Amino acid sequence: MVDPVLVAKAAATLLTNEKARKGVGWVLVAILSPIIVLVALLCSLGSGAADHNISAAQLCFQTGPIPADIPAEYRICIEQTRANFTELDTVIADIQSNMDEGNSLDPIRVKAVFFSLYFGAEAPPVSQFAHCFAASETRTETVTEKDEDGNDVEVERIYNVFVPIEDMGTVYSHIAASLGVTATGEQQSNADNVYSLVKYGYPVTGEGGAAFEGADVPYVGADGFCSPVGAGWRNIVTSEFGGRIDPITGQRDGHTGMDLAVPTGTPVRAALPGTIRVAQYDSSYGYYVTIGHEGGLLTLYGHNSRLLVRPGQQVQAGDVVSLSGSTGRSTGPHLHFEVRLNGQRTNPRYYLP
Ligand SMILES: [Zn+2]
Repeated sequence: MVDPVLVAKAAATLLTNEKARKGVGWVLVAILSPIIVLVALLCSLGSGAADHNISAAQLCFQTGPIPADIPAEYRICIEQTRANFTELDTVIADIQSNMDEGNSLDPIRVKAVFFSLYFGAEAPPVSQFAHCFAASETRTETVTEKDEDGNDVEVERIYNVFVPIEDMGTVYSHIAASLGVTATGEQQSNADNVYSLVKYGYPVTGEGGAAFEGADVPYVGADGFCSPVGAGWRNIVTSEFGGRIDPITGQRDGHTGMDLAVPTGTPVRAALPGTIRVAQYDSSYGYYVTIGHEGGLLTLYGHNSRLLVRPGQQVQAGDVVSLSGSTGRSTGPHLHFEVRLNGQRTNPRYYLP
């Protein structure tokens, strides 16, 4: 088994090289997972060369011919996913017909999650899957009926309707409970990207469409420590660890981490393999994530706009755990990054690659 971090790194190296990227094209796409396909797409969008390098995700959502230069193995996966999507449409229409007026399932959302979990899978559970996006509610209504003597009587009737589930966390827990498939943070983030790509024509990026350069590929040092926001982190440090003047109170205090200025929506990556300890809102840290690692290390990622992981989830170095933002006690979009050793806050610079 090839180390996925190494594969991602190899892909990153290739993809960040303009010449290599153009030459590699679909050969690279064929050997890597859908998340890497998206990385390829992000890069090609960045360089304005998206025309012929259309992603597998987009091809699945389309009905036209599949380009001839796509390898057979990939072609089969795309055709299979298209067939699954047709089946999904039928189930979605069926669920839809049992919804109150004004309620609806978003077929792109359903398919985007399906794509990220089942692209290339054999015989995925289509019908059960679509039902994970809706809850059944029991309603009662009073109807007037005629009794045996022809008199009007009021009768209570009980019926079921489907209600769309808006919260994706609930959807993913339904998928886990009824299908036994736990979506990783990366798969959830991948689904968000596919959704945005199909619905709006571009993957999830910062406000105004600006993504921090290099943030779309993991940047891992020799010791396995991954920069949470890509290779260029040194250029975007806006506040060091240690003593500083607090930007809000004007008082001198000890800064507990390092601030890295990144546009809202930038993918934030796990620094090391570990287990998600906290993924929640805090009035100070905003939406934040902590990850427990081996050797008494703990990393913290603060002020995110969106969390993509749940407590207890296992992550690898480089997995996307959140999208950056400016929530909590923050004066502008940035990532507040902490490294704690046995509970003691330490300077993240000692660890970053
Ligand atoms: Zn900070």
